[in-house]
Amino acid sequence: MTRPIYLDNHATTPVDPQVLAAMLPFFTEHFGNPGSITHQYGWEAEAAVKQARETLAKAINATPEEIVFTSGATEANNLAIKGVAEAYFSKGRHIITVATEHNAVLDPCEYLKHLGFEVTLLPVQPDGLLDLEQLAKALQPETVLVSVMAANNEIGVLQPLAAIGQLCRQQGVLFHTDAAQAIAKVPLDVEAMQIDLLSMTAHKVYGPKGIGALYVRRKNPRVQLAAQLHGGGQERGLRSGTLYPPQIVGFAKAVELGLAQLDEEAQRLTALRDRLWHQLQQLDGIDLNGHATQRLTGNLNVSVEGVDGQALILGLQPVVALSSGAACSSAKIAPSHVLTALGRSESLAYASLRFGIGRFNTEAEIDQVATSVIETVQTLRRSG
Ligand SMILES: *Cc1c(COP(=O)(O)O)cnc(C)c1O
Repeated sequence: MTRPIYLDNHATTPVDPQVLAAMLPFFTEHFGNPGSITHQYGWEAEAAVKQARETLAKAINATPEEIVFTSGATEANNLAIKGVAEAYFSKGRHIITVATEHNAVLDPCEYLKHLGFEVTLLPVQPDGLLDLEQLAKALQPETVLVSVMAANNEIGVLQPLAAIGQLCRQQGVLFHTDAAQAIAKVPLDVEAMQIDLLSMTAHKVYGPKGIGALYVRRKNPRVQLAAQLHGGGQERGLRSGTLYPPQIVGFAKAVELGLAQLDEEAQRLTALRDRLWHQLQQLDGIDLNGHATQRLTGNLNVSVEGVDGQALILGLQPVVALSSGAACSSAKIAPSHVLTALGRSESLAYASLRFGIGRFNTEAEIDQVATSVIETVQTLRRSG
């Protein structure tokens, strides 16, 4: 039996064979603890971690000291949001974020409300983009942090980071961005975009699961951050726990590979995405969710009128592996909070398909998927 075509690359990606090859020696031969300073095993591991840190810093125009390794973007977001909230507690207790953020941003903010913080959840425009005037109006003297994601995990929409960064810097407010879907896929520059904290993860960019990082600005301004994990004092005390060299080496390799083919891959994915969208438009009552061009090249998110969303995903499942929204919440039977924030009705939010096209997808696969979606929708509509 052949397995379904994988088009759920926003949920996770396979590890690139070149990434795996870079990781392998660090499980066995070079197994040392980077914190061991008294012998060669430790030095080897430490040298590999140092090099990976340099690669990741360079990828976003930061310095190596500004990279804090974490277990992924969820932890990086928690560290950024709770860490800033705690460190700036006496300065102010107001945080601004956006309705379409990932739960790894929304939930830490929700948690902070219980500790007495005020959280403003900004709406988005029907295309998923943040309205900068609304952001400007929401800033208060009490505001300590603005958190706006780089690329949305459901609709792929790319927020105007540089404009947000400029606004925040002018007002003396820290700017955090969750770049889990953006790193090594779209250009990121923490200087040009005036970003103060940036969350990354490896497994959305053909690296291993369980590793990520938080960029924390060290000057102009120097960001204060309260650690959320205490212990051995690794990562300059900001994140204790033994560093994991195989994952760290794989993370850096994945980002390096992504950057090396960034333009070329963006072109290829755009062509595949447009090909899919063009074919799907043979159907009546199919609507694009999110901005048409200001989005990740591999993302297509559509709502299909007149079908049951659950039945649609189930019907497609033997041919194509995809989801209607975020992987972490697709078990819950609730409409996507991202799509409802765009103003989609509940039934259209349910009947949505998120196509995440990735490095290993081919044109033939896209054609097969398009045919299958069209047939399944037509069958459901006939029986419905
Ligand atoms: C996947 C994802 C996360 C969570 O990242 P993990 O590394 O899996 O914890 C956070 N934010 C966004 C936008 C994501 O796509």
